[in-house]
Amino acid sequence: MPDNFPQSLEPLANELRKASRVLCLTGAGVSAESGVPTFRDSGGLWEGSRPEDVATPEAFERDPDLVWRFYLARRRNLSSVRPNPAHEVIARFETLFPEFNVVTQNVDGLHQQAGNSRILCLHGDIWIDRCTVCTFERRVEASDGPVPRCDQCGALARPGVVWFGEMLPEGVFEQAVQLAADAQVVLVVGTSSQVYPAASLANVAQQSSAFVAEINPNATPFSDSADLVIPLNAGMVFPELERMLAESGRI
Ligand code: NAD
Ligand code: ZN
Repeated sequence: MPDNFPQSLEPLANELRKASRVLCLTGAGVSAESGVPTFRDSGGLWEGSRPEDVATPEAFERDPDLVWRFYLARRRNLSSVRPNPAHEVIARFETLFPEFNVVTQNVDGLHQQAGNSRILCLHGDIWIDRCTVCTFERRVEASDGPVPRCDQCGALARPGVVWFGEMLPEGVFEQAVQLAADAQVVLVVGTSSQVYPAASLANVAQQSSAFVAEINPNATPFSDSADLVIPLNAGMVFPELERMLAESGRI
């Protein structure tokens, strides 16, 4: 742990004390301490598979069974996973600030489980089955068995996530840009800042003069532009930030 922790958080705590509109941008790293593997930290393999073999429209067209086996296994792994202290503080922050929003690249549902309701999921939600033909979709629990089919038209269903090479859900990115442009403080947490267009949101915030802090134990392409880099795990930083705000009467 760096010697100057938690004093190194003070510039961020100060900005948060003054802020009424705060945005938290999260990536896979915020769930790492819950035991969910991140994508880039695993040496190019994602839960044992190459992403291009399982997380692209071409892969699904080629072999829907293989793709579904991967997603059913991910759901099984996620079903026993719980929010960690970072998710929990991020959920409490929603009631602390007049406007606190989360924009996440995660599909694991852990922010929702922790209690956030003002949340945009840029890359969809792994707990949704979506028809490949009609507009039908349904929310599911950990599931097993054969490849799911649509309840309405019987066509093949697919996981409700955004695959590599696909567009984001309509309108969601535009809303995220608006939140980034309006925020006074932006927390960029646990993302390698390499997946676009999600990675551009931090730049949008900076161009609108927000204070942007990066919370990530590893440097990213965004680190040099951040107003403050906190090179630590989110599960350590958030409880401390909450304590600092409570001490100064913000909570
Ligand atoms: P990424 O895997 O590319 O990067 C994870 C980042 O988190 C890294 O920079 C790493 O240094 C950092 N990190 C690791 N542990 C951390 C901790 N305890 N606290 C703070 N930071 C930590 O993740 P990404 O940028 O979100 O991009 C991956 C893509 O894959 C996304 O599109 C996402 O949808 C998908 N994905 C989602 C999940 C999930 O839903 N939990 C998991 C893996 C991948
Ligand atoms: Zn259908």
